[in-house]
Amino acid sequence: MEIIERSSPNFGPRRDGLRPELVVLHHTAMLTAEAALERLCDPAAEVSAHYLVAEDGRTWRLVPETGRAWHAGTGSWGGAGDVNSRSIGIELANAGPLAGFPPFPEPQMAALETLLDGIMARWSIPPAGVIAHSDMAPERKSDPGPKFDWRRLALGGRAVWPDADDTEPAPSAGWDHFRAAAHAAGYAAPAGDWGLVLAAARLRFRPWAAGAPDPAPDSTDVAAMRACVDRRRVPT
Ligand SMILES: [Zn+2]
Repeated sequence: MEIIERSSPNFGPRRDGLRPELVVLHHTAMLTAEAALERLCDPAAEVSAHYLVAEDGRTWRLVPETGRAWHAGTGSWGGAGDVNSRSIGIELANAGPLAGFPPFPEPQMAALETLLDGIMARWSIPPAGVIAHSDMAPERKSDPGPKFDWRRLALGGRAVWPDADDTEPAPSAGWDHFRAAAHAAGYAAPAGDWGLVLAAARLRFRPWAAGAPDPAPDSTDVAAMRACVDRRRVPT
């Protein structure tokens, strides 16, 4: 794929010898890709990502993959913080709440998939390592948001999704099962608030659920968390 080089000054070295083991997906929440490009390269903004993918598929590399871009902020995944030192950040141009959460167009999704294939191969990142910003910072972030097609990524082996053909019995419902599965997947509860994790999980795995959701996790929520577990890392 053609990648447009556009250097952002907003990065530093990865700390403690850490390497990318995650990919964090974002939406820009800005009206145009060009506006996001300016902001991600503005030294005063002090934010960046490794890549920006426009709605039409144009892809910019802003920070080298070996560098530590400033996209994740406070949060954790898999029991460890400093997600910036452990991840590659991809910004998807999308106005999000500014325009009623528009869909992510086909050329953008196709470019993202090609980009992910290269990143995942270069750094040996498994599908479970591709996560949302909202997964690692559930108290602060909701991107890439309810319209992002995680199932499509998972069908191509680029993310995880609950397997509808799973022959195992349906998992139990309830907070104990949800907490255990979400923790094994990598989620952390900010200040012990697992309700925030449940909201993040539902945003990613069942954003279409209408009406007032059950305030407690059901078996579908637990199944989604079990699907997130990196089975290379945590035997199940
Ligand atoms: Zn974000």
